[in-house]
Amino acid sequence: MNCRLCSSKKTRVIYPGPIRSGGVGSAFIDGFTVIGCEDCGFAFLDPIPENLDRFYETHEYREKFDYEFSPASIHKKYDHEQNERIQRIGIQNLRGKTVLDLGASAGVFLDAIKAVADQTIAVEPGEIFREYLIDKGHRYYPYPEDAISANELADIVTSFDVIEHVPDPGEFVRQAFKLLKPGGTFVLSMPNFDDLLLRVQKAAFDPFFFQIAHLNYFGKKVISMLFEGSGFPLPKIGFLHKYGIENLIRWCKYGSPGAVPEAAGLFDEAFNRHYRIEIERSGMASHLFIVAKKDY
Ligand SMILES: [Zn+2]
Repeated sequence: MNCRLCSSKKTRVIYPGPIRSGGVGSAFIDGFTVIGCEDCGFAFLDPIPENLDRFYETHEYREKFDYEFSPASIHKKYDHEQNERIQRIGIQNLRGKTVLDLGASAGVFLDAIKAVADQTIAVEPGEIFREYLIDKGHRYYPYPEDAISANELADIVTSFDVIEHVPDPGEFVRQAFKLLKPGGTFVLSMPNFDDLLLRVQKAAFDPFFFQIAHLNYFGKKVISMLFEGSGFPLPKIGFLHKYGIENLIRWCKYGSPGAVPEAAGLFDEAFNRHYRIEIERSGMASHLFIVAKKDY
């Protein structure tokens, strides 16, 4: 099978399954493999699950992966992740700007920056969030091509943990480029294929990490190919680690996510702050955090 990103024929099965079928605690299922490309470093799920558009347009995806899917329950689960995102971008860089978020979900990021941004644009196929996003004053489009057709142009395009879900990630980056004004910034995050747990606890972590909604797997190596031909110069590749050290201990000791009762109270916030910084510095963090600038 040819690489879905660079078309190279030098691909092989790097993980035969099983993979996770939904959110934390869901069943592991067979019938899917993960293919890796020796040329560009891309890894991808095979086959692509059927009826993907319907999966994301209805409540089906959120029901499977988040269980509860009202805007309020999505906010409760993901609001805390916005602190780090806003800090990295900087409020001073958002004030007065037009900000477009690809895969806006229930507005978790856009709601948080609405007061300083001039205009906010939500691109989100999930119809369950449409009314909420419009009520909050965000301009709304289901898909990137809809925003492009409407001639939207933003100072900042963001996309947090969305590109791993799309059938054509190269096209997704090219769409982000089209939606940016000259001099604009694209901020992109996604799970990291060089995650420490994929090395030290492979047997237990593989079936959890590889999952039916993630068609694409990216490490640092593949980013240059991902951005090739997009119009962007080579982006700045950074890392973001979302978990404290208890998560690492938990996986290594029990082979599953969650808390470690024996470690309760051992590691305070300051410890975990340093732990996260060091994991990010090593490149083995849970997520990639990429910043690309469109030239003037
Ligand atoms: Zn490739």
